[in-house]
Amino acid sequence: MDTDKTTALIDSPGFQEFGLNHIDPAQLAAYMPDLKPHVAHCKFYNCSHLHEPGCGVMAAVKSDASAHEISANRYKIYSDLYAELSQARKY
Ligand SMILES: [Zn+2]
Repeated sequence: MDTDKTTALIDSPGFQEFGLNHIDPAQLAAYMPDLKPHVAHCKFYNCSHLHEPGCGVMAAVKSDASAHEISANRYKIYSDLYAELSQARKY
């Protein structure tokens, strides 16, 4: 794991209590307090929040996010982690 990602995790409330390796990528958004409320608005229950139509998370991502929205930077952390967790699961 590179330093940037480690730092991002430490900065994320919720991640400090969890080791990464046992998180199912499908559950990742539930561990990110700023993403979690928007998952309820997704059209598909098994939404990965990466490319699905009608995704509540993607709809809430704003480059100038205010409260109750998701910053583009946080969404990038999510997508990076999702890719990393998906990789880890192949072994
Ligand atoms: Zn979604």
